[in-house]
Amino acid sequence: MRELLTIGRYFKKKFHQRIRKIPISLQGFTCPNIDGSVARGGCIYCRNESFSPSLIKLDKTIHTKMNFKITENLILGIQLQQLEEQFCWHANFHKDKFDIQKYMIYLQSFSNTYAPFETLKAIYDKSLSFPNVVGMSIGTRVDCIEDKTLDLLQEYTLNQKEIWLEYGIQSTFEETLKATNRGHGIAGIAELFKKTRQRGIKVCAHLIYGLPNETPEMMLESLQTVLSWGIDGIKIHPLYVVSQTKLAKMYEQGLYQPITLETYGELIAKSLEIIPQDIIIQRISSGAHDETLIAPKWCFDKNIQMRYLREKLKDIGIQY
Ligand code: SF4
Repeated sequence: MRELLTIGRYFKKKFHQRIRKIPISLQGFTCPNIDGSVARGGCIYCRNESFSPSLIKLDKTIHTKMNFKITENLILGIQLQQLEEQFCWHANFHKDKFDIQKYMIYLQSFSNTYAPFETLKAIYDKSLSFPNVVGMSIGTRVDCIEDKTLDLLQEYTLNQKEIWLEYGIQSTFEETLKATNRGHGIAGIAELFKKTRQRGIKVCAHLIYGLPNETPEMMLESLQTVLSWGIDGIKIHPLYVVSQTKLAKMYEQGLYQPITLETYGELIAKSLEIIPQDIIIQRISSGAHDETLIAPKWCFDKNIQMRYLREKLKDIGIQY
């Protein structure tokens, strides 16, 4: 049985203990695909709070939003306080319940490199200053990162911090990116991955299986393409429909059919046979465990999803 290099196994090998990623959602962060800099309305499936549970704790009366142009960030104090509160809560919980001693900060919601440089530096510096934090994983878009931010992240790596940039790609087909209103194409991504990795920053690519009008062959081709660009880790997840999105409207009108668990399982099995053994598998499942989920229903329970996938993988000699 071949054991996959999951993120948990990778951390254990590198740090000789379990590491827990602590998800952080900060007030004011948004995305250029939502605020109109690139497009409005966001990706057709995006309802960010359903991806990021910590968002529900944010103050809905504060309307300040981050971008590259603001000269003075009046909510930085609030952001830093939220960062500390969320970190302490999660770290204490995992320490008490699971005896986890070391952590990675995971800046998860929206685009976490989309803010004035000074804001990013203050947030990253504070993240890495917490006790027992070994590094940071930053979720962002490929059109939303400046060279000076990459240089800053490189400095942290030189101080022995584990730094990951998680780039949402979703598909490498231009027509799919257009149909899902991603607001970017694939031009320049290979170079971006290269210059990120040249600085010692690890690259995790996100892909979604089940995007509108994509065939299984297209999904596997997207995988091959991101592998050819050079990555350190990958996250793959099924597309699910959540309420109050354009995708939900398409689904209600019969214009979108979600991927089935069986097809997804087949694709994951094929994908894991293709992905080289030294690429770190960060995720192969996803879901929304709340009333926002419309379809497919198998995305409601990640445990059921993972049980199914684990069994499927066992059949081809892979232990997840
Ligand atoms: S890039 Fe992410 S945050 Fe921005 S609209 Fe798309 S899914 Fe939402």
